[in-house]
Amino acid sequence: MILHHRLALTPVINAAGTFTPLGVSRSSPTVRAAAAQALGEFLVIEELQQRAGAAIAGWTGAQAGAVAHCVAGAITMAVAAAIAGEDVDAIATLPDAGGRLHRVLLPAGHAVDYGHPITQDIRLAGGVPVPAGDEDGCSVAELEQALASGGIACLLLVSSRLTRGPAIDLAAAVAAAHRHGVPAFIDGAAQDMRLPDLLATGADLVLASGHKYLASPTIGLVAGKGAWVRAFRAQERGIGRAMKPAKEAIVGLLAAIEERRELDLRQWTDLQAHKTAEFVERCARLPGIAARAQPDPSGMPFSRAHLRIDPQAAGIDAAGLVAALADGTPSIRVMTHRLADEELVLELVPLEPAEIEAIIARLEALLAGSPAGC
Ligand SMILES: *Cc1c(COP(=O)(O)O)cnc(C)c1O
Repeated sequence: MILHHRLALTPVINAAGTFTPLGVSRSSPTVRAAAAQALGEFLVIEELQQRAGAAIAGWTGAQAGAVAHCVAGAITMAVAAAIAGEDVDAIATLPDAGGRLHRVLLPAGHAVDYGHPITQDIRLAGGVPVPAGDEDGCSVAELEQALASGGIACLLLVSSRLTRGPAIDLAAAVAAAHRHGVPAFIDGAAQDMRLPDLLATGADLVLASGHKYLASPTIGLVAGKGAWVRAFRAQERGIGRAMKPAKEAIVGLLAAIEERRELDLRQWTDLQAHKTAEFVERCARLPGIAARAQPDPSGMPFSRAHLRIDPQAAGIDAAGLVAALADGTPSIRVMTHRLADEELVLELVPLEPAEIEAIIARLEALLAGSPAGC
């Protein structure tokens, strides 16, 4: 808490997942040390870039890899690659696409807002987002229909809580794009444990945030086909300049990938399952709470705790409880995407046992009829 004191910041217990407004993740001591070391060095950035590309390819099984500042930047650079390719003049002129084709197709339900509209990442490169299907979903046939009227890329998204409508079959969507000679890019920002699955769809580029579950410094990972990674990297001499990865982030990422490759995934998964199950069991004993563990809908290997509030029995409704948790010290932040159903969702992955105890103690204090309640 020393940092919080020095800068007069609010201490936070983050049960809201890899949430950008809360600092996303906590890096391991090894990753922190690697990043700190890089800050004191001059390095040949091109060499670092190549080490990062090779590490991403070796880890994910992709042909090639690259890095950008973050996934938002990587989406823009991927679209730029689709518009300008490796043409030096076109690269230097973006986001003015000149006479070049620039329609980027995406299922309407994938046009999400993750803090800003993802369609703006497309526009920043000079692309024009063209939604396919509608808010209730986009079938492969509807995507195919949109592709028939022309496009330079197809952007698909995988997210546990942002996409709307029934999930589209990614491999079928990628195949449809390829039938029309168009590359498919997948934004799998929080899907770093599923990159081989996403690459197996045949996607040309798969993008992921290093700072989410991989817990590196802020960086965007790109994995995919050699030619598209080359075109992606060519944008570094264009609009990618404003999206460049920091040297400390690249060095931190290399350490994080090394750690991940050594991780006993089975043991990690068991630990997460146990943590969530125990939390759910203890919350279920609190008045007015029905608790359950719910697996991540996008296939990441952990569950979240869903707490359904009965306002009558709890003496407080879900929105009131979220506000009260956030108002205390430390401020406890939870996921609010299920509030309309009177549900709080908590992700425990990065939390220490003492933080989980603090959450339970606060819930006990806030709920009517609890031993510690008022
Ligand atoms: C977090 C997220 C992003 C943004 O990733 P950054 O690396 O923080 O720019 C984009 N898309 C989705 C689906 C996300 O969850």
